[in-house]
Amino acid sequence: MKNTEKTHAFPENWPEEYLRLAMTHPDGEALFYACGQSVEEYAPDSEALFDPTGESRCAPIPFVYRKHIGKALVLVTSSCFSYCRFCFRRASPPSSKKEPSVDDLCAIRNWLFSNEAVEEVILSGGDPLTLDDSKLATLLTIFGQPPGVKRLRIHSRAPVVNPKRVTRELVEIFKNSAKPISMIIHAAHPAELRRELWRCAELLLDGGIGILNQSALLKGVNADPATLCHLISKLRSRGIETKYIHHTDRAPGNAKFRVSIREGLSILRKLSGLLDDPPDYVIDLPNGAGKFPVSSLSVVDKVSTPEGIKRRYRWNGPVHDDAATEERPPFEWWDITEQE
Ligand code: SF4
Repeated sequence: MKNTEKTHAFPENWPEEYLRLAMTHPDGEALFYACGQSVEEYAPDSEALFDPTGESRCAPIPFVYRKHIGKALVLVTSSCFSYCRFCFRRASPPSSKKEPSVDDLCAIRNWLFSNEAVEEVILSGGDPLTLDDSKLATLLTIFGQPPGVKRLRIHSRAPVVNPKRVTRELVEIFKNSAKPISMIIHAAHPAELRRELWRCAELLLDGGIGILNQSALLKGVNADPATLCHLISKLRSRGIETKYIHHTDRAPGNAKFRVSIREGLSILRKLSGLLDDPPDYVIDLPNGAGKFPVSSLSVVDKVSTPEGIKRRYRWNGPVHDDAATEERPPFEWWDITEQE
């Protein structure tokens, strides 16, 4: 998808290699659009949700979120390589460096020991790979110790944005982990797929580290069937599966990336005609209940406003078998305004 808007700033913090890619690739403008600050971010945004995925309702201790009994997500750093402008965590400026202290990590470790039902620890942030090898090795040791923990998952855009960060030494650290590790890479646009990413994927796969992709559906970047098909097919050809496409969280300031639920369903329907095995289209509900198929939502109300049409959606369950929050269906909320 070509983007013609060029009102965004030059991202100062990008790794040089990614900046060169964005400047030289014929579709590089999409990368600037996704990660460069723009004046639109500061416009009034009445449709933003201040806690777009309801995380504040499922935070048992600092830096930990638990939406499922069997999973705990730990924010190990606020630093990122790309500070994607659609992300609800992008608000931390590169200088803020918010990380759990030693005391916080002790508390997290103790919490994991006393919550044996947690089988998967997800290292997120920020981007965990902005931490150095020694800090990462320490975290993997701490999170891998509790007997209940069976696996570790790392969410990182490093293979996409800063492939040099994935070294043989780092893969050795992963291989030495007491629990198996997988990585989710969040590639958003086909322009990001290049030789250096495939090198990272080979290194990780050869080291026994599973590598998967998840993408958010982003207007102006990838919200059309052809772009998504290109992205997913190319990743699959290199052994990287995309199981989920995420409906974009309505974070304050990310209005330019939002598609309506109805529009998203239409894009995914068309995508299913292009791919043998299309990914699931999921939404992280604003009430903290977790991720559910968008197709399971129903429209319960519709109003016309001077700006367009608004639809009200209802989630009727079912609740995940291992849901950790008290949130139960039905839950209703208004979608963004659509032009018709
Ligand atoms: S999507 Fe990931 S890499 Fe991008 S700003 Fe959010 S946490 Fe950072």
